[in-house]
Amino acid sequence: MERRHVDTDVLVVGNGGAGLRAAVEAAEHGCRVILASKIGADRPNSTAVIAGWGAHVPTDQVEDYFRMVVEEGNYLSDQELAWQYAAEAADRMPELRRYGVEMRLDASTLERPGTTRQLWFFPGPRGRLGDAIREPLRAAAADKEVVILDNTFVTRLLTSDAGVAGATALDLGAGGLIAISARAVIVATGGASGIYARQNNPAGTTGDGYALAYRAGAELIDMEFDTFMMSQEELNSLFSGVLSEDEALSTYGAHYSCGGIKVDERRRSSTGGLYAAGEAAGGTFGSARLGGSAVGDIIVSGFLAGRGAAEAAAKAPEPDPCEDQVVDEEEKLSSILSREGVAAKGVTAQIRDIMWRKVGPVRRRETLATAVAELERLRGKIADISAGSPRELREAVEAEIMLDVGLVIATAALERDESRGNHWRLDHPEPDNEKWLRNLVVKRQSDGSLSIRVEKVALTRLADVGPCRIGSAWTGGYVEPRS
Ligand SMILES: Cc1cc2nc3c(=O)[nH]c(=O)nc-3n(C[C@H](O)[C@H](O)[C@H](O)COP(=O)(O)OP(=O)(O)OC[C@H]3O[C@@H](n4cnc5c(N)ncnc54)[C@H](O)[C@@H]3O)c2cc1C
Repeated sequence: MERRHVDTDVLVVGNGGAGLRAAVEAAEHGCRVILASKIGADRPNSTAVIAGWGAHVPTDQVEDYFRMVVEEGNYLSDQELAWQYAAEAADRMPELRRYGVEMRLDASTLERPGTTRQLWFFPGPRGRLGDAIREPLRAAAADKEVVILDNTFVTRLLTSDAGVAGATALDLGAGGLIAISARAVIVATGGASGIYARQNNPAGTTGDGYALAYRAGAELIDMEFDTFMMSQEELNSLFSGVLSEDEALSTYGAHYSCGGIKVDERRRSSTGGLYAAGEAAGGTFGSARLGGSAVGDIIVSGFLAGRGAAEAAAKAPEPDPCEDQVVDEEEKLSSILSREGVAAKGVTAQIRDIMWRKVGPVRRRETLATAVAELERLRGKIADISAGSPRELREAVEAEIMLDVGLVIATAALERDESRGNHWRLDHPEPDNEKWLRNLVVKRQSDGSLSIRVEKVALTRLADVGPCRIGSAWTGGYVEPRS
């Protein structure tokens, strides 16, 4: 396998709204920035396909908006991140115009009783409204000399004693491996809804950033909270038995990952030099999020991660080239290309099926425990996967990513024996604040095993915990599932 080396100050992985905003910000701080993404500008990611709304409030309503975010998340939000999101959105959303993003305030949302939220509408062609964000930000990144590497699939983060030192990536066009040395890395790879058999995200939304960060030793938080696009009424019907489990499994689909890489207010992960933004990061929304807030979040967290990574890169030493890890990755990928084996598609179909049927909208102790066992068994099959082209090699690498992420989600969902927000346990149908006003933090141990830490939520700003509920105000209604 051919190999080339490049180096940079900041590597951003993912060209959705979060990655683009982060790249622009890091470049504005004077950094050399590489933006690598496994899809090109011509193909949709979640940012491109938004239904069209992005939330924001004026500065005098930040407190109300913060409260709404925390209540919607059923008090599992990191309250400092939620506050920062509400406060920063007031500046960062209107600021998008500076980069040429066309947007207008949707007047109907201003009049909606009981909401302080304002929604920006991004006009554009049906199904691609988010290009109104993506294209101007991409042009701004190019203007600031960000090196944009499309069709570049990041397969592994490189780590030294000082923390993350870059990444390896597959050139999906020309083939070959790229070793990227970087002083700081921002993971902005979107969510993991694509690991479920039914979902509405664009192809490739396979939770790569979660696996990359997890394997590099970073902590993940709230991974059990996925959104399954069921309205409150439908969810009530499921819990009361009016809607059968089979109907639920054949009608809805995964949509948004609430959890993700655990970050602080600078969007730093628990691994040095590693930052996360957008749907790849977790903590802000707790167990469920308000509609329109994902767009607000990609812009706010992209800005913060770009700034944080740029500041860190300015102080970081020359990154270790991590030659051993690069060689290791090269050998691993070469062996997938050279061996006889099975296609990745069969394995990924099995993972998706397990995730949907046993870890999807219908969860119980037995289904989750079986899912964990079945996913563990599939690990053997990963070693049998072979590939004959860069595209098949990408599918092979994605299969292992999906397996790791699926196991994290299933294990966390098994641990949380209550229902809350977007986590629905039919065997524990009520929220249990006594036991579960807590986050689950997952980490990979040095021996490869998974550890879970149960962490009490710090009620730093909103100490009074009101009623918690199952479902979320916006889980249904604005998007149709696509299998
Ligand atoms: C149909 C639909 C409608 C929605 N509507 C709305 C809405 O109206 N309002 C709202 O607030 N939210 C909405 N959302 C949610 C919102 O779109 C997403 O949460 C948000 O766009 C995620 O942005 P992101 O930048 O984090 O990731 P993405 O936009 O998903 O971008 C991630 C990028 O990372 C790249 N990538 C992934 N793995 C790798 C890897 N290993 N190497 C290199 N690159 C990689 C991908 O190719 C992709 O380009 C909607 C989602 C969907 C699916």
